[in-house]
Amino acid sequence: MTTLLTLDDCRRRDAADPLRPLRDLFQLPEGVVYLDGNSLGALPKATPDRVAQVVRAEWGTELIRAWNTAGWADAPRRIGDRIARLVGAGPGELVATDSTSVNLYKVLSAALAIAAEDAPGRRTIVSERSNFPTDLYIAESLARERGGTLRLVDAADLPAAVGADTAVLLLTHVHYRTGAMHDMAAVTAAAHAAGARVVWDLAHSAGAVPVDLHAANADFAIGCGYKFLNGGPGAPAFVWVHPRHVDRFRQPLSGWWGHAQPFAFVPGYQPAAGIGRYLCGTQPQIALAALEAGLDVFAAAEPLGGMAALRAKSLALTDLFIALVDARCDGHPLGLATPRDPARRGSQVSLTWHGDAPEAAHAIVQALIDRGVIGDYRAGDGSAEPHILRFGFTPLYTGFEDVWQAVEQLRDVLATGAWRDARFHRQAAVT
Ligand SMILES: *Cc1c(COP(=O)(O)O)cnc(C)c1O
Repeated sequence: MTTLLTLDDCRRRDAADPLRPLRDLFQLPEGVVYLDGNSLGALPKATPDRVAQVVRAEWGTELIRAWNTAGWADAPRRIGDRIARLVGAGPGELVATDSTSVNLYKVLSAALAIAAEDAPGRRTIVSERSNFPTDLYIAESLARERGGTLRLVDAADLPAAVGADTAVLLLTHVHYRTGAMHDMAAVTAAAHAAGARVVWDLAHSAGAVPVDLHAANADFAIGCGYKFLNGGPGAPAFVWVHPRHVDRFRQPLSGWWGHAQPFAFVPGYQPAAGIGRYLCGTQPQIALAALEAGLDVFAAAEPLGGMAALRAKSLALTDLFIALVDARCDGHPLGLATPRDPARRGSQVSLTWHGDAPEAAHAIVQALIDRGVIGDYRAGDGSAEPHILRFGFTPLYTGFEDVWQAVEQLRDVLATGAWRDARFHRQAAVT
């Protein structure tokens, strides 16, 4: 049954890959197989010059005039429109601004306020127990602030756990640990049928998997600029609100950039119409320029098939990784946390470690990084949540030969026990 895949097969697939030219738009260090673009996207070659231009020419020469002459004032909306195309939102419906955590605070506030008007009994936020910590921390504070409850459930209990008390269901579309992907349309429909609104966190989806917020009839969405969108460390995030909700509520961070007339300097807050009210303060132009350069790569992908082609390649890469780990790392205490079903898989593969040395998963990742294969490790609690070795596949720049090399190094690290070396057992602040 199993077809034996060879290095040559992988090289042939790279040669035949219509998206291969996109890799040349990135500055990837020689000898590195980068499988962490789901955490921090790689550097597009155009970004340093674009950032230098903003600093030298726009800031340095135009000074304050650049807010108008260089399009600074308009950047959150202009860049937002470009992200909108990747996630099935309409023009003028999405802005690039602030961080994912801050944007979550805004949309969750709005969702709770809408529920308070429409159905005052509904004050519970439901989320996945294993959702990304910042999402749960923000939800916890808001529940406390609004006198509501945060109820954490397992994915298997969804959408049944959305009940008569539920104001909002908060989910991350592609799970950061496992790479499992929710069926956005089906979950949204079920939550709506139960009377709740849904906030989707697209941190691991935008630029990685096709998303159609309108087709799914979603209510609110937020997402990250520095993962698959390659906007650089701490890049501005994004926020989208369905037009049916957007003018109903003033998000609580009522800064002057969200005002209907920010430069009128009038007393009293009047929210801008539409998504503009989700802006707060002055936006970081240098960071926005880097994000825009990241989005230029997606513009270059459009004539090559766009998100559909990127998704096809992403699945081909993750299928290959899974098949090669099955075939070549057999006999080691590894499991697969990521769904084998392509329809339920994002753009990463997470392996679990079940060996009796629980610190091994971390050490294996460190040993791989030492050999130029950069993935990451996410600690579990050792029982219900296993330790995870996480490998992100960015179809813009990851090749089939990269997948081969990654599995070959993993096979060798396991077979030789190279991970047992003491230098791979030191803990770093950010891993
Ligand atoms: C990466 C990520 C974030 C990041 O939030 P920041 O505010 O940028 O730190 C939030 N949520 C999820 C699900 C993520 O994966």
